[in-house]
Amino acid sequence: MSHGKDARLHQQLYKKIPRFECIEGCTDCCGPVPWSDYELKQARLSEPPQERADKTCAFAQGGCSIHQARPLMCRLFGAVEDLRCPHGRGPLQLLSVERGHELVRRYKIANGFD
Ligand code: SF4
Ligand code: SF4
Repeated sequence: MSHGKDARLHQQLYKKIPRFECIEGCTDCCGPVPWSDYELKQARLSEPPQERADKTCAFAQGGCSIHQARPLMCRLFGAVEDLRCPHGRGPLQLLSVERGHELVRRYKIANGFD
């Protein structure tokens, strides 16, 4: 897929996820997540970051250090009925489980994930 098409597809998916404010500096839900090729490029990575020994994400540094370029799964956490924030943060209207799964399904198909 061309970079332009890839960008459009990812931006379309991201736009469907309702936004909300996290607790400043919090990364309590951060752990290993899938990365598409487009997302790796956006974060200027050639491969997914190595997870730390404690399974936390390498970008969790008093908040997400690549917030604008974070992958889809990071964006979904806290925004879907079955991915609720442990601290009660989230949008006024959570995505339904079905809508969340549909976005993940489209992301996987577009990126050739199993
Ligand atoms: S969704 Fe909740 S747990 Fe995750 S970073 Fe935001 S405030 Fe922290
Ligand atoms: S990329 Fe950012 S939001 Fe995603 S798991 Fe890592 S620190 Fe958390």
